[in-house]
Amino acid sequence: MTDILPYLLERAKDMENSLIQLIKAESPSTDKRLVDECGQVLASEYSRLVNGQIERINQLETGDCYRFTYGEGTEQILILGHFDTVWAQGALPIEKRAGKLYGPGAFDMKGGLVVTLFAIHALFANQVKGNRKIVFLATSDEEIGSRTSRALIETEARKSVCVLVPESSLPPNGDIKTARKGIADFTITVQGIPAHAGHDPKAGANAIEELALQIVDLRALNDHANGISLNVGRITGGTRVNVKAEFAQAEVDLRFMTKKQGEQIIKQIMHRTPYIAGTKITVTGGVNRYPLERTEQGVQLFWQFQKIAQKHGYSLQEGLSGGGSDGNFTAALGIPTIDGLGPVGDGAHARNEHVELANLPYRAALIAEFLAQNLHT
Ligand SMILES: [Zn+2]
Repeated sequence: MTDILPYLLERAKDMENSLIQLIKAESPSTDKRLVDECGQVLASEYSRLVNGQIERINQLETGDCYRFTYGEGTEQILILGHFDTVWAQGALPIEKRAGKLYGPGAFDMKGGLVVTLFAIHALFANQVKGNRKIVFLATSDEEIGSRTSRALIETEARKSVCVLVPESSLPPNGDIKTARKGIADFTITVQGIPAHAGHDPKAGANAIEELALQIVDLRALNDHANGISLNVGRITGGTRVNVKAEFAQAEVDLRFMTKKQGEQIIKQIMHRTPYIAGTKITVTGGVNRYPLERTEQGVQLFWQFQKIAQKHGYSLQEGLSGGGSDGNFTAALGIPTIDGLGPVGDGAHARNEHVELANLPYRAALIAEFLAQNLHT
């Protein structure tokens, strides 16, 4: 199938329109009604472009998920995407400027959904089939931790030979992701003993002071050279300036490169010894997503993509992301996973979120050719 890129280049305008439709269907994760409406746009685009099998998976609190199937076979290739975004309705304008399309979810990851739709469309239109099927699982709560779709993702991944994740690529060149850091979250709560700040300076135990000392200790656990970083993103505590604080709390975000490294550092975070007599520390939380570790299998997938890119006249690189995705779940199950396959762009979760429109056909062709090459066992 050597003419897949020209076929998709001719459909650049159709891809742009499809993306605008998906972005206009704003879909903040926490608004089920809006996310459901966006899911319907995605499903109608799939039936327009592929005419394949569509299964709607009802969810109670979050948007309904979709399982789109192309082809037949006992083995399957999984493509994993989410159509919720971090943006409240109306928070960002939709604009086209200098070949870039700006808008909520343009880069994370409606651009990736569009290239997936058109990659499968290209196979369908050119009657490319094999003895494996393609399952495109579109979920609705990735931006809030995938609590309701995780089991679905893992069930589908276990049935798959590999997983492609068309999440946002690495700016500025659109490198694809062969590794992602793991993420853990913690809440550190300090219980102190309240006392008057002036009557007896030695009385009581100040929870804020204890927490401050703990935060300094946590800071020492940063090891940027080895990919470990901690962020204390929120603190609360105390009641009045003249009262020794009875309560203080911090929320901590940890990023790490390997499961082993994560487990070691989590142990250190969970077991805190107080400095100030009379205070008590409790730590809750743990791993949200294990890392997508750079594996031999993942790199082999990358090489296939790199070769296709070369054939299409550009060079493609691999990289590491500090953020997590649903690809972390599938990689943790040992299923070869490659991420960041979405179009070139920038600004995930930022006000300058955008994709490069001219790149859409290239990215769709990249995925389509990979699928074509792997549709046969
Ligand atoms: Zn995303």
